[in-house]
Amino acid sequence: MILLDGKALAAEMEDELKAHISALKGRPPCLAVVQVGKNPASTIYIKRKEEACKRVGIRSLKQHLNEEVSQEELFRTIRALNEDPAIDGILVQQPLPKQINTYALLESMNPAKDVDGFHPLNIGRLLLGDKGAFIPCTTLGIFLLLRKYQIPLQGKQVVVVGRSNIVGKPTAALLMQPWEECNATVTIAHSKTENLEKVCSSADILIAAIGKPRFITPKMVKKGACVIDVGINRIEDPSAKTGFRLVGDVDFEAVKKHCSHITPVPGGIGPLTIASLLQNTLKAYSKGG
Ligand code: NDP
Repeated sequence: MILLDGKALAAEMEDELKAHISALKGRPPCLAVVQVGKNPASTIYIKRKEEACKRVGIRSLKQHLNEEVSQEELFRTIRALNEDPAIDGILVQQPLPKQINTYALLESMNPAKDVDGFHPLNIGRLLLGDKGAFIPCTTLGIFLLLRKYQIPLQGKQVVVVGRSNIVGKPTAALLMQPWEECNATVTIAHSKTENLEKVCSSADILIAAIGKPRFITPKMVKKGACVIDVGINRIEDPSAKTGFRLVGDVDFEAVKKHCSHITPVPGGIGPLTIASLLQNTLKAYSKGG
C-alpha cells in the first residue's frame, strides 16, 4: 500500500509558488478572505489559509462581518472587493448564516476573482471543458495528487461518493473531461444510491466526500483500488490533548490493507486544498482581473 502524501505535495507546491511570487515585479498577489460570524471550524480554516498565504508571499486581507449581517451589506462588501484593483482573489468562507442566499452570493462575485471556483460561470466553464477555468480547490488538489503519483485515470472507473457543489460535482466534472490526463468513467453516488457497496466496490479510484466518520469499509473497496479520502470529521478522543481528533470518511486502518493507494486524514487532501487556493490566487493575479 502506498500512502498518498498530500502534505509533502502541498509543501512542494508552496516552494514553487514562493519562488514564482518572489520573482514578480510590482505588488504581490492579494487574497481577500471574508468570514461571516464565528463558526469555529471556519476560523481554523481561515487561519490556515492566511498562514499559507504568508508563507508563499501572498498578501491576505480579512474582512470579518458579524453573524447577523444582511444580504445587502454582504453584497456591498463583495462589490467593493470586486472593484478594488488591488484585490486579485476573493474567498467567502462557507457555511454562511441562514439569512444569506449562498447561490446569489456566489453569483455576485467577479468570476475573474473567484479563486474558489464556485461561481456558476466557473463551474460552467469546468463542465464545458475550458482549461482556463478556476477549478475548485479540493477538486484541483485531488487531481494534482493523482497526477503526482501517476495514478492513471484514462478509462478507469472512478466512483465519487458525495454530490456537493464544492467537492463531489466538480470532482466528477473534472475527472470525466475528454483530456488525456482525465478521461475517467465517473459515477457519482449519494445518500439515495441503491447498492452503495456494489457501486463503490466497482471503483478503480474511490473518492469519499461524505462527512461521515469511517463510513467506507473494506467491503466497499475493490482489492487494489486507490482510495481518496476527502472527509474531515471531528470525533471525541479522550486520549487526545484537545479531547478530539480528526478522521476521514474512510476506515483508514481497515481499508489500508485492502487498497493500492490511500490518503491519510489529516495530511491528505486538506493541505492540497489550501495549496490549490494559493495556486488559483496566483492564476487570478496573472490574469489580472
Ligand atoms: P456535504 O454535506 O455538502 O455533502 C455530503 C454528500 O455526501 C452529499 O451528497 C450526501 O448525499 C452524501 N452522503 C451523506 N450520507 C451518505 C450516505 N449514507 N451514503 C452515501 N452518500 C451520503 O459535504 P461536503 O461535500 O461539503 O464535504 C464532505 C466532507 O469533506 C466533509 O467531511 C467535509 O468536512 C470534507 N471536506 C474536506 C475538504 C478538504 O479540504 N479536505 C474540503 C471540503 C470538504 P445527499 O446529496 O443525498 O444528501
